[in-house]
Amino acid sequence: PEYKEMLLRVTERLKDVFGTAGDVFVLTASGTGAMEAAVVNTLSPGDKVLCASVGSFGDRFGEIAAIFGADVTMLTSPQGSSVNVDELRKALKANSSYKAVLVTHNETSTGVANDLESIAGVVKGEFDKLLLVDGISSVCSLPLRADDWGCDVVATASQKGWMLPPGLAFISFSDRAWKAHAESTMPRFYFDLAQYKKYLEIGQPPYTPAVSVMFALDRALQQIADEGIDALYERHKYIGNFTREGLKALGLEIVPDEAAASNTVTAVWMPAGVDSAALIAALQSEHGIVVAGGQESLKGKIIRIGHMGRTTTDEIQNVLDALAATLPQLGFVPAGAAVG
Ligand SMILES: *Cc1c(COP(=O)(O)O)cnc(C)c1O
Repeated sequence: PEYKEMLLRVTERLKDVFGTAGDVFVLTASGTGAMEAAVVNTLSPGDKVLCASVGSFGDRFGEIAAIFGADVTMLTSPQGSSVNVDELRKALKANSSYKAVLVTHNETSTGVANDLESIAGVVKGEFDKLLLVDGISSVCSLPLRADDWGCDVVATASQKGWMLPPGLAFISFSDRAWKAHAESTMPRFYFDLAQYKKYLEIGQPPYTPAVSVMFALDRALQQIADEGIDALYERHKYIGNFTREGLKALGLEIVPDEAAASNTVTAVWMPAGVDSAALIAALQSEHGIVVAGGQESLKGKIIRIGHMGRTTTDEIQNVLDALAATLPQLGFVPAGAAVG
């Protein structure tokens, strides 16, 4: 009985954060599971899908759809840039047979935040296509209003901005998505959202949930409600800016253009001659700080600093100080250090 109460309370609060009056389900999975759920619950083999990708997580979304038999066209942007809305419009105009558009809200591999509201304006407002969103590192950190903007499915995961351990994924599902579900013939079992809906009506999950993470989620949602979602967005905006300004003051270059820079993760280029693996190892062993490197083609070339959830400006200042101390050992004299 205690779990039932918690599941119902948590589900209502999740809807507030997603900005939807539609459905939101809790899955025991990582974020990729929720991406797969978005695909298999709405599409059929052979459906034409446009995947607007700006990095490796965008590519992953297209890959999932392709593996389940969708006919995927990739619309890629140069590394570090966001989705070009004019090109998206052009692609949708050029071929009217697309059933859905897949897009990443916040591309964690390059630190790029897409202008999802404008993207949704084109996909939904101008072309009326199904819109599936990877919001894994954005929901509850960056502004997103699923219903107002017209996002049919939005996927996210507990270990990103939700301040939680990994183990749960959350997914919103619109009426339009349910219509697509009724026609969809992709194979699905564990992620069939019809089961989650049926069981939620009796206050249960269809399969064994990660109960421990649910308790944490219940607390996190209370904290989010106490802080207020707009204050939380403002705090992320502040810390994103604080991180970028601090890095630039050290003479480092941010990967994306300022306008497309994410407020949940910052990717920064390594200065010429500095190996990111050596820097990451030194930050960890000498300062107890964990930052991430680049993925795939960005391996060795960038580091990524996370500042979502409860990260504080004091913690980011520690990272900046550690960079100022460590970079000279690796052959780069930071601007701030030169000033003294
Ligand atoms: C982390 C992340 C994923 C993958 O999530 P997992 O929980 O590792 O499966 C996908 N997309 C984005 C944008 C992410 O940040």
